[in-house]
Amino acid sequence: MSPSLLYRAVFPRFSPEARFRPTTTSAAGAALRIRWLGTAGYVLEAAGTTIAIDPFVTRPSLSHLLGPLHPDDVAIAWRLPARLDAVLCGHSHFDHLLDAPRIAARTGALLVGSRSTLAFGRAEGLPAARLVEVPPSGRTLRVGALEVRFVPSLHGRIIFGRVPFSGEVTRPPALPRAWHYRMGGAFGILVRAPGVCLYHNGSADLVDAELAGEHADVLLVGLAGRGSTRAYLARLQRALGPRVIVPTHHDAFFAPLEEGLRLLPGVDLPGFCAEARGLAPLATLVTPAYDEVLAVPADDARGAALLAHTLTTC
Ligand SMILES: [Zn+2]
Repeated sequence: MSPSLLYRAVFPRFSPEARFRPTTTSAAGAALRIRWLGTAGYVLEAAGTTIAIDPFVTRPSLSHLLGPLHPDDVAIAWRLPARLDAVLCGHSHFDHLLDAPRIAARTGALLVGSRSTLAFGRAEGLPAARLVEVPPSGRTLRVGALEVRFVPSLHGRIIFGRVPFSGEVTRPPALPRAWHYRMGGAFGILVRAPGVCLYHNGSADLVDAELAGEHADVLLVGLAGRGSTRAYLARLQRALGPRVIVPTHHDAFFAPLEEGLRLLPGVDLPGFCAEARGLAPLATLVTPAYDEVLAVPADDARGAALLAHTLTTC
């Protein structure tokens, strides 16, 4: 069903500039492949290991958000690989977590996240051996060829200067609604693959001290609510020195991905791009479309480019 006229007015369509879309026709030799699922969701593949971060493809409409939320198995089957090694969740709001337990169940993956995230995993029927809890102090673990560090972070204050739906979940109701997905602690996620390191900052805030001594070649930077966080991008840039910057979580997520990319109100993506160019003039700035694969080379991540032909697997 197409979005209504009101939806189209509130969430304007976004057409990224060509200069922020470097393209290539081959990912041969790429150390890391990154596919955007919309919101803060990604599939990453490196050296034979495939993981998902905050995968959310159900995208209930605004009217459906008032009722019980169910993962969309068709959308999941269409957009996620058949096998995954791990599903990582930075926090437990529905736009990060709703689909993650189902995806872990379908793909044989570990589910990694806070105690609240794991409560939803148990409700999905995942066995204890597939649940990896991240305490508030963070955790480092190995997933195949990848080293993953959950970095203690903060959630952006996205609604009237406040974090929505804060708190923990110990046992979700049988038919959870949007507000039952309490935030449950927020983490950035550092992924070290052979030859390239990535940082996923799924919500627009950070704890500078937790990033001391770290580096990331690729920064996936969540934009929703960034205006409430002082010097947000400058602090991430200073801490991590990324060579590739990819804005994320700027898209409206209340219609199927097939409807195309529309912006959340107030994210000012063009303004973000201008700010990124000023702060990191040597970095490559990339604004992918849904499902596009960004191939990152090992030797110099600034050569990252989008595959010209969209792949359905990554
Ligand atoms: Zn959130």
